[in-house]
Amino acid sequence: MAGSRDKATDQMKMWKEARANQRPDTLTTGGGQPIGDKLNLLTAGPRGPLLVQDVVFTDEMAHFDRERIPERVVHAKGAGAFGYFEVTHDISRFCKAKVFEHVGKTTPIAMRFSTVAGESGSADTVRDPRGFAVKFYTEEGNWDLTGNNTPIFFIRDALLFPSFIHSQKRNPQTHMRDPDMFWDFISLRPETLHQISFVFSDRGIPDGHRHMNGYGSHTFKMVNAAGEPVYCKFHFKTDQGIKNLSVEEAGRLAASNPDYSLADLYNAIAEGNFPSWTFYIQVMTFDQAEKYPFNPFDLTKVWSHKDYPLIPVGKIVLNRNPVNYFAEVEQSAYDPSNMPPGIEASPDKMLQGRLFSYPDTHRHRLGANYLQLPVNCPYRTRVANYQRDGPMCMYDNQGGAPNYFPNSFSAPETQPRFVESKFQVSPDVARYNSADEDNVTQVRTFFTEVLNEEERQRLCQNMAGALKDAQVFIQNRMLENLRAVHPDYANRVRSFMNKFSQEAKKSNNVHVYSRPGAVAASSKM
Ligand code: NDP
Repeated sequence: MAGSRDKATDQMKMWKEARANQRPDTLTTGGGQPIGDKLNLLTAGPRGPLLVQDVVFTDEMAHFDRERIPERVVHAKGAGAFGYFEVTHDISRFCKAKVFEHVGKTTPIAMRFSTVAGESGSADTVRDPRGFAVKFYTEEGNWDLTGNNTPIFFIRDALLFPSFIHSQKRNPQTHMRDPDMFWDFISLRPETLHQISFVFSDRGIPDGHRHMNGYGSHTFKMVNAAGEPVYCKFHFKTDQGIKNLSVEEAGRLAASNPDYSLADLYNAIAEGNFPSWTFYIQVMTFDQAEKYPFNPFDLTKVWSHKDYPLIPVGKIVLNRNPVNYFAEVEQSAYDPSNMPPGIEASPDKMLQGRLFSYPDTHRHRLGANYLQLPVNCPYRTRVANYQRDGPMCMYDNQGGAPNYFPNSFSAPETQPRFVESKFQVSPDVARYNSADEDNVTQVRTFFTEVLNEEERQRLCQNMAGALKDAQVFIQNRMLENLRAVHPDYANRVRSFMNKFSQEAKKSNNVHVYSRPGAVAASSKM
Protein backbone atom coordinates (compact mmCIF):
# COMPACT_ATOMS: atom_id res chain seq x y z
CA MET A 1 0.00 0.00 0.00
CA ALA A 2 2.75 2.42 1.04
CA GLY A 3 4.44 1.85 -2.33
CA SER A 4 1.60 3.59 -4.15
CA ARG A 5 1.83 6.82 -2.15
CA ASP A 6 2.38 9.94 -4.25
CA LYS A 7 4.54 12.97 -3.42
CA ALA A 8 1.67 14.98 -1.99
CA THR A 9 0.74 12.16 0.38
CA ASP A 10 4.40 11.74 1.36
CA GLN A 11 4.94 15.42 2.21
CA MET A 12 5.50 14.85 5.96
CA LYS A 13 7.86 11.91 5.38
CA MET A 14 9.91 13.92 2.88
CA TRP A 15 10.02 16.92 5.19
CA LYS A 16 11.46 14.72 7.93
CA GLU A 17 14.03 13.18 5.59
CA ALA A 18 15.18 16.60 4.38
CA ARG A 19 15.89 17.60 8.00
CA ALA A 20 17.53 14.34 9.01
CA ASN A 21 20.86 15.92 9.96
CA GLN A 22 19.52 19.03 11.62
CA ARG A 23 19.03 19.46 15.35
CA PRO A 24 15.36 20.00 16.20
CA ASP A 25 14.36 23.56 17.09
CA THR A 26 13.44 24.45 20.65
CA LEU A 27 9.69 24.85 21.03
CA THR A 28 8.71 28.44 21.83
CA THR A 29 5.71 30.69 22.33
CA GLY A 30 4.77 33.19 19.64
CA GLY A 31 6.98 35.65 21.50
CA GLY A 32 9.98 33.32 21.13
CA GLN A 33 10.21 32.26 24.78
CA PRO A 34 11.29 28.59 25.13
CA ILE A 35 8.56 26.27 26.48
CA GLY A 36 9.27 23.59 29.08
CA ASP A 37 5.95 21.69 28.99
CA LYS A 38 3.49 21.81 26.09
CA LEU A 39 1.35 18.86 27.18
CA ASN A 40 -0.13 19.98 30.49
CA LEU A 41 -2.12 23.05 31.55
CA LEU A 42 -0.84 25.13 34.45
CA THR A 43 -3.47 24.50 37.16
CA ALA A 44 -3.96 25.07 40.86
CA GLY A 45 -3.65 21.48 41.95
CA PRO A 46 -3.98 18.37 39.80
CA ARG A 47 -7.70 18.97 39.22
CA GLY A 48 -7.51 22.65 38.41
CA PRO A 49 -8.70 25.32 37.99
CA LEU A 50 -6.59 26.78 35.23
CA LEU A 51 -4.45 29.79 36.03
CA VAL A 52 -4.65 32.90 33.88
CA GLN A 53 -0.89 33.01 34.08
CA ASP A 54 -0.65 29.95 31.79
CA VAL A 55 0.48 32.11 28.88
CA VAL A 56 1.71 29.02 27.04
CA PHE A 57 -1.96 28.06 26.79
CA THR A 58 -3.41 31.52 26.13
CA ASP A 59 -0.73 32.30 23.54
CA GLU A 60 -1.59 29.10 21.64
CA MET A 61 -5.35 29.25 22.08
CA ALA A 62 -5.81 32.92 21.28
CA HIS A 63 -3.91 32.44 18.04
CA PHE A 64 -5.89 29.32 17.20
CA ASP A 65 -9.12 31.28 17.74
CA ARG A 66 -8.02 33.57 14.94
CA GLU A 67 -6.64 30.97 12.52
CA ARG A 68 -9.17 31.51 9.77
CA ILE A 69 -9.06 34.58 7.63
CA PRO A 70 -12.21 35.38 5.67
CA GLU A 71 -12.67 33.10 2.71
CA ARG A 72 -12.46 34.64 -0.75
CA VAL A 73 -15.98 35.65 -1.83
CA VAL A 74 -15.28 33.94 -5.17
CA HIS A 75 -12.43 31.63 -6.26
CA ALA A 76 -12.17 30.26 -2.70
CA LYS A 77 -10.84 26.79 -3.63
CA GLY A 78 -7.45 27.08 -5.19
CA ALA A 79 -3.98 25.70 -5.80
CA GLY A 80 -0.80 27.72 -6.17
CA ALA A 81 2.76 27.35 -7.37
CA PHE A 82 5.82 29.39 -8.29
CA GLY A 83 8.12 29.61 -11.27
CA TYR A 84 9.29 32.01 -13.94
CA PHE A 85 8.32 33.81 -17.12
CA GLU A 86 10.83 33.85 -19.95
CA VAL A 87 10.71 36.15 -22.97
CA THR A 88 11.17 34.22 -26.22
CA HIS A 89 10.08 36.91 -28.70
CA ASP A 90 10.68 40.64 -28.72
CA ILE A 91 7.51 42.73 -28.30
CA SER A 92 9.21 45.99 -27.27
CA ARG A 93 7.65 47.61 -30.37
CA PHE A 94 4.36 47.36 -28.48
CA CYS A 95 5.34 47.53 -24.83
CA LYS A 96 8.00 49.24 -22.75
CA ALA A 97 7.36 47.17 -19.60
CA LYS A 98 10.69 45.86 -18.34
CA VAL A 99 9.23 42.38 -18.00
CA PHE A 100 9.45 42.16 -21.84
CA GLU A 101 12.83 43.97 -22.05
CA HIS A 102 14.77 41.43 -24.10
CA VAL A 103 14.62 37.87 -25.37
CA GLY A 104 15.91 35.48 -22.71
CA LYS A 105 14.91 37.70 -19.77
CA THR A 106 13.29 35.79 -16.92
CA THR A 107 10.99 37.12 -14.20
CA PRO A 108 9.83 35.20 -11.11
CA ILE A 109 6.11 34.44 -11.02
CA ALA A 110 3.46 33.12 -8.66
CA MET A 111 0.29 31.48 -9.93
CA ARG A 112 -3.04 30.53 -8.46
CA PHE A 113 -5.65 28.31 -10.09
CA SER A 114 -9.15 27.99 -8.70
CA THR A 115 -12.78 27.12 -9.17
CA VAL A 116 -15.17 30.06 -8.85
CA ALA A 117 -18.44 29.32 -7.08
CA GLY A 118 -17.53 26.66 -4.51
CA GLU A 119 -16.28 27.25 -1.00
CA SER A 120 -12.73 26.55 0.07
CA GLY A 121 -13.55 22.91 0.92
CA SER A 122 -15.47 22.19 -2.27
CA ALA A 123 -14.58 19.62 -4.93
CA ASP A 124 -12.12 20.48 -7.69
CA THR A 125 -13.92 18.64 -10.49
CA VAL A 126 -17.18 20.58 -10.65
CA ARG A 127 -18.40 22.29 -13.79
CA ASP A 128 -17.34 25.89 -13.33
CA PRO A 129 -14.94 28.35 -14.97
CA ARG A 130 -11.41 28.11 -13.56
CA GLY A 131 -9.41 31.07 -12.27
CA PHE A 132 -5.97 31.46 -13.85
CA ALA A 133 -4.03 34.19 -12.02
CA VAL A 134 -0.39 35.10 -12.63
CA LYS A 135 1.73 37.46 -10.57
CA PHE A 136 4.93 38.66 -12.23
CA TYR A 137 7.43 40.03 -9.68
CA THR A 138 8.99 42.66 -11.97
CA GLU A 139 11.63 45.24 -11.04
CA GLU A 140 9.02 47.92 -11.77
CA GLY A 141 6.52 46.50 -9.29
CA ASN A 142 4.21 43.53 -9.54
CA TRP A 143 2.08 42.80 -12.58
CA ASP A 144 -0.98 40.63 -11.93
CA LEU A 145 -3.14 39.05 -14.59
CA THR A 146 -6.27 37.72 -12.93
CA GLY A 147 -7.65 35.67 -15.78
CA ASN A 148 -9.75 32.59 -16.33
CA ASN A 149 -9.57 29.46 -18.47
CA THR A 150 -12.07 31.14 -20.78
CA PRO A 151 -11.32 34.14 -22.99
CA ILE A 152 -14.72 35.64 -22.12
CA PHE A 153 -17.01 36.18 -19.12
CA PHE A 154 -20.73 35.98 -18.30
CA ILE A 155 -21.42 39.71 -18.11
CA ARG A 156 -20.00 42.90 -19.57
CA ASP A 157 -21.06 45.50 -16.99
CA ALA A 158 -19.46 45.30 -13.53
CA LEU A 159 -22.55 46.70 -11.83
CA LEU A 160 -24.16 43.27 -12.33
CA PHE A 161 -21.30 41.33 -10.76
CA PRO A 162 -22.55 40.99 -7.14
CA SER A 163 -26.00 39.86 -8.33
CA PHE A 164 -24.52 37.46 -10.85
CA ILE A 165 -22.39 35.82 -8.15
CA HIS A 166 -25.29 35.73 -5.66
CA SER A 167 -27.36 33.87 -8.26
CA GLN A 168 -24.63 31.23 -8.69
CA LYS A 169 -24.05 30.72 -4.96
CA ARG A 170 -26.50 29.80 -2.19
CA ASN A 171 -30.20 30.52 -1.77
CA PRO A 172 -30.66 33.00 1.10
CA GLN A 173 -33.20 30.79 2.89
CA THR A 174 -32.26 27.20 2.09
CA HIS A 175 -28.51 27.80 1.93
CA MET A 176 -28.45 25.46 -1.07
CA ARG A 177 -27.45 25.98 -4.66
CA ASP A 178 -30.62 26.93 -6.47
CA PRO A 179 -31.38 26.03 -10.10
CA ASP A 180 -34.06 28.74 -10.30
CA MET A 181 -31.65 31.46 -9.14
CA PHE A 182 -28.90 30.20 -11.44
CA TRP A 183 -31.01 29.99 -14.61
CA ASP A 184 -33.20 32.98 -13.79
CA PHE A 185 -30.23 35.34 -13.90
CA ILE A 186 -28.60 33.59 -16.85
CA SER A 187 -31.80 33.67 -18.92
CA LEU A 188 -32.62 37.28 -17.99
CA ARG A 189 -29.18 38.39 -19.21
CA PRO A 190 -28.55 36.89 -22.69
CA GLU A 191 -25.03 38.31 -22.74
CA THR A 192 -24.22 35.22 -20.62
CA LEU A 193 -24.88 32.92 -23.62
CA HIS A 194 -21.30 32.79 -24.84
CA GLN A 195 -19.74 31.94 -21.48
CA ILE A 196 -22.52 29.58 -20.43
CA SER A 197 -21.94 27.69 -23.71
CA PHE A 198 -18.22 27.38 -22.87
CA VAL A 199 -18.97 26.27 -19.31
CA PHE A 200 -21.40 23.52 -20.38
CA SER A 201 -19.04 22.33 -23.12
CA ASP A 202 -16.25 19.81 -22.47
CA ARG A 203 -13.92 22.58 -21.32
CA GLY A 204 -16.26 23.25 -18.39
CA ILE A 205 -14.54 20.42 -16.46
CA PRO A 206 -10.78 20.61 -17.14
CA ASP A 207 -8.64 17.64 -16.14
CA GLY A 208 -6.78 19.42 -13.34
CA HIS A 209 -5.16 22.81 -13.65
CA ARG A 210 -2.28 21.84 -15.95
CA HIS A 211 -4.35 20.88 -18.97
CA MET A 212 -6.22 24.10 -19.61
CA ASN A 213 -5.47 27.39 -21.32
CA GLY A 214 -5.45 30.70 -19.48
CA TYR A 215 -6.62 34.05 -20.79
CA GLY A 216 -6.15 37.58 -19.45
CA SER A 217 -9.69 37.82 -20.88
CA HIS A 218 -9.97 41.61 -20.58
CA THR A 219 -8.68 44.02 -23.17
CA PHE A 220 -5.64 45.89 -21.86
CA LYS A 221 -3.40 48.57 -23.31
CA MET A 222 0.29 48.28 -24.05
CA VAL A 223 2.42 51.41 -24.42
CA ASN A 224 5.87 51.43 -26.03
CA ALA A 225 8.91 53.57 -25.16
CA ALA A 226 7.76 56.25 -27.63
CA GLY A 227 4.49 56.52 -25.73
CA GLU A 228 2.42 54.86 -28.49
CA PRO A 229 -0.47 52.76 -27.16
CA VAL A 230 -2.20 49.72 -28.64
CA TYR A 231 -4.95 47.52 -27.22
CA CYS A 232 -4.05 43.94 -26.41
CA LYS A 233 -5.29 40.60 -25.09
CA PHE A 234 -3.22 37.96 -23.26
CA HIS A 235 -3.37 34.20 -23.95
CA PHE A 236 -1.58 31.31 -22.23
CA LYS A 237 -1.81 28.03 -24.13
CA THR A 238 -1.10 24.91 -22.16
CA ASP A 239 1.99 22.98 -23.31
CA GLN A 240 0.50 19.89 -21.65
CA GLY A 241 -2.37 19.89 -24.17
CA ILE A 242 -6.05 20.47 -23.43
CA LYS A 243 -7.57 17.61 -21.42
CA ASN A 244 -11.03 17.52 -19.92
CA LEU A 245 -12.79 15.09 -17.63
CA SER A 246 -15.86 13.19 -18.66
CA VAL A 247 -18.95 13.99 -16.63
CA GLU A 248 -18.91 10.52 -15.11
CA GLU A 249 -15.23 10.67 -14.12
CA ALA A 250 -15.62 14.17 -12.69
CA GLY A 251 -18.57 13.03 -10.58
CA ARG A 252 -16.63 10.02 -9.31
CA LEU A 253 -13.62 12.21 -8.41
CA ALA A 254 -15.79 14.83 -6.71
CA ALA A 255 -16.84 12.12 -4.26
CA SER A 256 -13.61 10.15 -3.94
CA ASN A 257 -10.85 12.73 -4.43
CA PRO A 258 -12.21 16.28 -4.08
CA ASP A 259 -8.66 17.71 -4.07
CA TYR A 260 -7.88 16.11 -7.43
CA SER A 261 -6.55 19.25 -9.13
CA LEU A 262 -4.51 20.34 -6.10
CA ALA A 263 -2.86 16.92 -5.95
CA ASP A 264 -2.26 16.79 -9.70
CA LEU A 265 -0.42 20.13 -9.71
CA TYR A 266 1.52 19.42 -6.50
CA ASN A 267 2.66 15.98 -7.60
CA ALA A 268 3.65 17.07 -11.11
CA ILE A 269 5.90 19.79 -9.73
CA ALA A 270 7.26 17.60 -6.92
CA GLU A 271 8.20 14.98 -9.53
CA GLY A 272 10.05 17.54 -11.65
CA ASN A 273 7.37 17.43 -14.35
CA PHE A 274 7.10 21.21 -14.54
CA PRO A 275 3.95 22.50 -16.27
CA SER A 276 4.33 25.35 -18.73
CA TRP A 277 2.21 27.56 -20.93
CA THR A 278 3.15 29.48 -24.08
CA PHE A 279 2.33 33.14 -23.75
CA TYR A 280 0.80 35.06 -26.70
CA ILE A 281 -0.72 38.47 -27.23
CA GLN A 282 -3.24 39.82 -29.70
CA VAL A 283 -2.77 43.45 -30.68
CA MET A 284 -5.31 45.93 -32.05
CA THR A 285 -4.56 49.54 -32.93
CA PHE A 286 -6.84 52.35 -31.73
CA ASP A 287 -7.90 52.88 -35.33
CA GLN A 288 -8.80 49.20 -35.77
CA ALA A 289 -10.72 49.32 -32.48
CA GLU A 290 -12.91 52.11 -33.87
CA LYS A 291 -13.76 50.01 -36.93
CA TYR A 292 -14.08 46.52 -35.40
CA PRO A 293 -17.62 45.18 -35.86
CA PHE A 294 -17.69 44.08 -32.20
CA ASN A 295 -17.03 46.29 -29.20
CA PRO A 296 -13.40 45.30 -28.48
CA PHE A 297 -13.89 46.11 -24.79
CA ASP A 298 -16.82 43.73 -24.35
CA LEU A 299 -15.74 40.89 -22.06
CA THR A 300 -18.42 38.56 -23.43
CA LYS A 301 -16.66 38.53 -26.81
CA VAL A 302 -13.32 37.42 -28.24
CA TRP A 303 -11.12 39.02 -30.84
CA SER A 304 -11.09 36.55 -33.70
CA HIS A 305 -7.72 34.85 -34.14
CA LYS A 306 -8.21 35.26 -37.88
CA ASP A 307 -8.47 39.04 -37.62
CA TYR A 308 -5.94 39.43 -34.82
CA PRO A 309 -3.51 36.50 -34.94
CA LEU A 310 -1.70 35.35 -31.82
CA ILE A 311 1.78 36.87 -31.47
CA PRO A 312 4.21 34.73 -29.44
CA VAL A 313 5.85 36.38 -26.44
CA GLY A 314 7.31 33.78 -24.10
CA LYS A 315 6.57 30.96 -21.72
CA ILE A 316 5.64 30.55 -18.09
CA VAL A 317 6.94 27.56 -16.15
CA LEU A 318 5.96 26.38 -12.68
CA ASN A 319 8.83 24.67 -10.86
CA ARG A 320 8.23 25.16 -7.13
CA ASN A 321 5.42 24.09 -4.86
CA PRO A 322 4.45 26.37 -1.99
CA VAL A 323 6.47 25.69 1.13
CA ASN A 324 3.44 26.62 3.17
CA TYR A 325 -0.04 26.76 1.64
CA PHE A 326 -1.47 29.40 3.97
CA ALA A 327 1.47 31.79 3.70
CA GLU A 328 1.96 31.49 -0.03
CA VAL A 329 -1.44 30.63 -1.53
CA GLU A 330 -4.23 31.50 0.91
CA GLN A 331 -2.61 34.85 1.70
CA SER A 332 -1.74 35.54 -1.92
CA ALA A 333 -3.73 38.42 -3.38
CA TYR A 334 -3.94 38.95 -7.13
CA ASP A 335 -5.18 42.26 -8.41
CA PRO A 336 -5.60 43.49 -12.00
CA SER A 337 -4.80 47.04 -10.87
CA ASN A 338 -1.21 45.86 -10.31
CA MET A 339 0.21 47.04 -13.65
CA PRO A 340 3.79 48.20 -14.27
CA PRO A 341 4.53 51.12 -16.64
CA GLY A 342 3.77 50.01 -20.20
CA ILE A 343 0.63 48.02 -19.30
CA GLU A 344 -2.56 49.98 -18.73
CA ALA A 345 -6.30 49.50 -18.44
CA SER A 346 -8.69 49.68 -21.38
CA PRO A 347 -12.25 51.02 -21.02
CA ASP A 348 -13.56 47.42 -20.61
CA LYS A 349 -16.33 48.00 -18.03
CA MET A 350 -15.69 44.71 -16.24
CA LEU A 351 -11.98 45.51 -15.94
CA GLN A 352 -12.79 49.00 -14.69
CA GLY A 353 -14.95 47.47 -11.94
CA ARG A 354 -12.30 44.90 -11.02
CA LEU A 355 -9.59 47.57 -10.73
CA PHE A 356 -11.52 48.68 -7.64
CA SER A 357 -13.07 45.46 -6.33
CA TYR A 358 -9.92 43.31 -6.17
CA PRO A 359 -7.71 45.51 -3.99
CA ASP A 360 -10.79 46.41 -1.96
CA THR A 361 -11.63 42.78 -1.17
CA HIS A 362 -7.97 42.10 -0.29
CA ARG A 363 -7.98 44.97 2.19
CA HIS A 364 -11.00 43.37 3.83
CA ARG A 365 -9.76 39.76 3.68
CA LEU A 366 -6.11 40.31 4.58
CA GLY A 367 -5.93 43.83 5.98
CA ALA A 368 -4.77 47.25 4.89
CA ASN A 369 -1.13 46.13 4.70
CA TYR A 370 -1.71 42.98 2.62
CA LEU A 371 0.85 44.20 0.08
CA GLN A 372 3.55 43.82 2.74
CA LEU A 373 2.96 40.06 3.07
CA PRO A 374 5.97 38.26 1.54
CA VAL A 375 3.93 36.56 -1.23
CA ASN A 376 2.34 39.85 -2.27
CA CYS A 377 5.14 42.33 -1.72
CA PRO A 378 6.84 43.75 -4.81
CA TYR A 379 10.17 42.50 -3.51
CA ARG A 380 12.15 43.30 -6.67
CA THR A 381 11.61 47.00 -6.16
CA ARG A 382 11.42 49.24 -3.06
CA VAL A 383 8.06 50.66 -2.09
CA ALA A 384 8.36 54.38 -1.38
CA ASN A 385 5.10 56.26 -0.83
CA TYR A 386 3.11 58.15 1.79
CA GLN A 387 1.01 55.26 3.07
CA ARG A 388 1.65 54.64 6.76
CA ASP A 389 0.37 52.64 9.73
CA GLY A 390 -2.64 50.32 9.72
CA PRO A 391 -2.86 46.86 11.32
CA MET A 392 0.04 44.43 10.81
CA CYS A 393 2.59 46.87 9.48
CA MET A 394 5.44 44.44 8.90
CA TYR A 395 8.44 46.59 8.09
CA ASP A 396 9.90 49.84 9.44
CA ASN A 397 6.84 51.84 8.26
CA GLN A 398 9.29 53.85 6.08
CA GLY A 399 11.18 55.07 9.16
CA GLY A 400 11.61 58.81 9.52
CA ALA A 401 10.81 59.69 5.90
CA PRO A 402 8.17 62.43 5.52
CA ASN A 403 4.63 60.99 5.42
CA TYR A 404 3.06 63.80 3.40
CA PHE A 405 3.43 65.19 -0.13
CA PRO A 406 4.53 67.65 -1.28
CA ASN A 407 7.21 68.28 1.31
CA SER A 408 10.52 70.13 1.53
CA PHE A 409 12.66 67.20 2.69
CA SER A 410 13.21 65.09 -0.39
CA ALA A 411 11.09 62.00 -0.15
CA PRO A 412 10.13 59.84 -3.17
CA GLU A 413 9.47 61.92 -6.26
CA THR A 414 7.17 61.45 -9.22
CA GLN A 415 8.80 60.62 -12.57
CA PRO A 416 7.09 62.16 -15.62
CA ARG A 417 8.21 59.23 -17.78
CA PHE A 418 5.85 56.96 -15.87
CA VAL A 419 2.74 59.04 -16.53
CA GLU A 420 -0.02 56.96 -18.17
CA SER A 421 -0.83 57.41 -21.86
CA LYS A 422 -3.53 59.94 -22.74
CA PHE A 423 -6.79 58.87 -24.34
CA GLN A 424 -10.07 60.43 -25.41
CA VAL A 425 -13.44 59.59 -23.94
CA SER A 426 -17.02 60.23 -24.96
CA PRO A 427 -18.15 63.57 -23.58
CA ASP A 428 -21.54 62.31 -22.34
CA VAL A 429 -21.56 60.83 -18.86
CA ALA A 430 -24.51 58.43 -18.52
CA ARG A 431 -25.50 54.91 -17.48
CA TYR A 432 -25.33 53.27 -20.92
CA ASN A 433 -27.40 50.12 -21.39
CA SER A 434 -25.22 47.45 -23.02
CA ALA A 435 -27.66 44.52 -22.60
CA ASP A 436 -28.36 44.08 -26.31
CA GLU A 437 -24.89 44.44 -27.81
CA ASP A 438 -25.07 41.39 -30.11
CA ASN A 439 -25.28 38.51 -27.68
CA VAL A 440 -25.44 35.74 -30.28
CA THR A 441 -23.10 36.06 -33.29
CA GLN A 442 -19.96 34.71 -31.64
CA VAL A 443 -21.95 32.06 -29.75
CA ARG A 444 -23.35 30.89 -33.08
CA THR A 445 -19.82 30.60 -34.48
CA PHE A 446 -18.81 28.65 -31.39
CA PHE A 447 -21.79 26.30 -31.69
CA THR A 448 -21.73 25.75 -35.43
CA GLU A 449 -18.02 26.04 -36.36
CA VAL A 450 -15.76 25.52 -33.34
CA LEU A 451 -17.46 22.49 -31.77
CA ASN A 452 -17.60 19.23 -33.66
CA GLU A 453 -20.77 17.14 -33.73
CA GLU A 454 -19.97 15.09 -30.62
CA GLU A 455 -18.94 18.21 -28.67
CA ARG A 456 -22.16 19.97 -29.68
CA GLN A 457 -24.21 17.02 -28.52
CA ARG A 458 -22.44 16.89 -25.16
CA LEU A 459 -22.88 20.65 -24.67
CA CYS A 460 -26.65 20.31 -25.20
CA GLN A 461 -26.88 17.23 -23.01
CA ASN A 462 -24.92 18.90 -20.19
CA MET A 463 -26.99 22.05 -20.36
CA ALA A 464 -30.28 20.14 -20.45
CA GLY A 465 -29.20 18.11 -17.42
CA ALA A 466 -28.95 21.32 -15.38
CA LEU A 467 -31.70 23.43 -16.99
CA LYS A 468 -34.30 20.70 -16.41
CA ASP A 469 -34.28 21.59 -12.70
CA ALA A 470 -35.39 25.21 -13.16
CA GLN A 471 -39.04 26.26 -13.24
CA VAL A 472 -40.72 25.85 -16.63
CA PHE A 473 -41.07 29.58 -17.36
CA ILE A 474 -37.31 29.98 -16.78
CA GLN A 475 -36.54 26.95 -18.96
CA ASN A 476 -38.66 28.43 -21.74
CA ARG A 477 -36.95 31.81 -21.53
CA MET A 478 -33.55 30.11 -21.71
CA LEU A 479 -34.62 28.02 -24.69
CA GLU A 480 -35.75 31.18 -26.50
CA ASN A 481 -32.29 32.68 -25.89
CA LEU A 482 -30.67 29.53 -27.30
CA ARG A 483 -33.03 29.69 -30.29
CA ALA A 484 -31.74 33.18 -31.05
CA VAL A 485 -28.24 31.66 -31.25
CA HIS A 486 -29.37 28.75 -33.45
CA PRO A 487 -32.67 26.80 -33.62
CA ASP A 488 -30.70 23.57 -33.49
CA TYR A 489 -29.16 24.60 -30.15
CA ALA A 490 -32.60 25.12 -28.57
CA ASN A 491 -34.10 22.01 -30.17
CA ARG A 492 -31.33 19.73 -28.99
CA VAL A 493 -31.45 21.05 -25.42
CA ARG A 494 -35.25 20.70 -25.43
CA SER A 495 -35.11 17.12 -26.70
CA PHE A 496 -32.54 16.11 -24.06
CA MET A 497 -34.77 17.67 -21.39
CA ASN A 498 -37.73 15.66 -22.69
CA LYS A 499 -35.63 12.51 -22.67
CA PHE A 500 -34.51 13.06 -19.07
CA SER A 501 -38.04 13.74 -17.97
CA GLN A 502 -39.33 10.53 -19.61
CA GLU A 503 -36.51 8.52 -18.06
CA ALA A 504 -37.32 9.96 -14.65
CA LYS A 505 -41.00 9.09 -15.07
CA LYS A 506 -40.19 5.57 -16.23
CA SER A 507 -37.90 4.79 -13.34
CA ASN A 508 -40.34 6.52 -10.98
CA ASN A 509 -37.36 8.08 -9.30
CA VAL A 510 -37.56 10.69 -6.61
CA HIS A 511 -36.34 13.75 -8.49
CA VAL A 512 -32.76 14.60 -7.59
CA TYR A 513 -31.75 18.12 -8.51
CA SER A 514 -28.41 18.61 -10.18
CA ARG A 515 -27.42 21.77 -8.40
CA PRO A 516 -25.26 24.16 -10.37
CA GLY A 517 -21.77 24.24 -8.91
CA ALA A 518 -22.08 20.60 -7.95
CA VAL A 519 -23.14 19.77 -11.46
CA ALA A 520 -20.30 17.41 -12.21
CA ALA A 521 -21.71 15.00 -9.66
CA SER A 522 -24.96 14.72 -11.59
CA SER A 523 -25.26 11.63 -13.74
CA LYS A 524 -26.94 13.68 -16.43
CA MET A 525 -24.17 16.23 -16.64
P1 NDP B 1 -10.67 30.37 -34.74
O1 NDP B 1 -11.21 29.23 -35.49
O2 NDP B 1 -9.44 31.02 -35.21
O3 NDP B 1 -10.44 30.00 -33.22
C1 NDP B 1 -11.30 29.18 -32.55
C2 NDP B 1 -10.64 28.95 -31.22
O4 NDP B 1 -11.54 28.28 -30.37
C3 NDP B 1 -9.44 28.01 -31.26
O5 NDP B 1 -8.31 28.68 -31.68
C4 NDP B 1 -9.35 27.57 -29.83
O6 NDP B 1 -8.72 28.60 -29.07
C5 NDP B 1 -10.80 27.57 -29.40
N1 NDP B 1 -11.38 26.24 -29.34
C6 NDP B 1 -11.18 25.18 -30.12
N2 NDP B 1 -11.93 24.15 -29.71
C7 NDP B 1 -12.62 24.58 -28.64
C8 NDP B 1 -13.57 23.98 -27.78
N3 NDP B 1 -13.95 22.72 -27.96
N4 NDP B 1 -14.09 24.72 -26.80
C9 NDP B 1 -13.73 26.00 -26.62
N5 NDP B 1 -12.83 26.62 -27.43
C10 NDP B 1 -12.30 25.91 -28.41
O7 NDP B 1 -11.87 31.37 -34.66
P2 NDP B 1 -12.04 32.76 -33.94
O8 NDP B 1 -10.83 33.26 -33.25
O9 NDP B 1 -12.67 33.65 -34.97
O10 NDP B 1 -13.11 32.40 -32.84
C11 NDP B 1 -14.29 31.73 -33.21
C12 NDP B 1 -14.98 31.31 -31.94
O11 NDP B 1 -14.09 30.49 -31.22
C13 NDP B 1 -15.29 32.48 -31.02
O12 NDP B 1 -16.53 33.04 -31.28
C14 NDP B 1 -15.24 31.83 -29.68
O13 NDP B 1 -16.50 31.29 -29.39
C15 NDP B 1 -14.25 30.70 -29.83
N6 NDP B 1 -12.93 30.99 -29.24
C16 NDP B 1 -12.17 32.04 -29.71
C17 NDP B 1 -11.02 32.40 -29.05
C18 NDP B 1 -10.29 33.65 -29.44
O14 NDP B 1 -9.55 34.20 -28.60
N7 NDP B 1 -10.43 34.12 -30.66
C19 NDP B 1 -10.50 31.61 -27.93
C20 NDP B 1 -11.32 30.48 -27.56
C21 NDP B 1 -12.49 30.22 -28.21
P3 NDP B 1 -7.67 28.33 -27.93
O15 NDP B 1 -6.46 27.82 -28.61
O16 NDP B 1 -7.49 29.62 -27.24
O17 NDP B 1 -8.27 27.28 -27.06
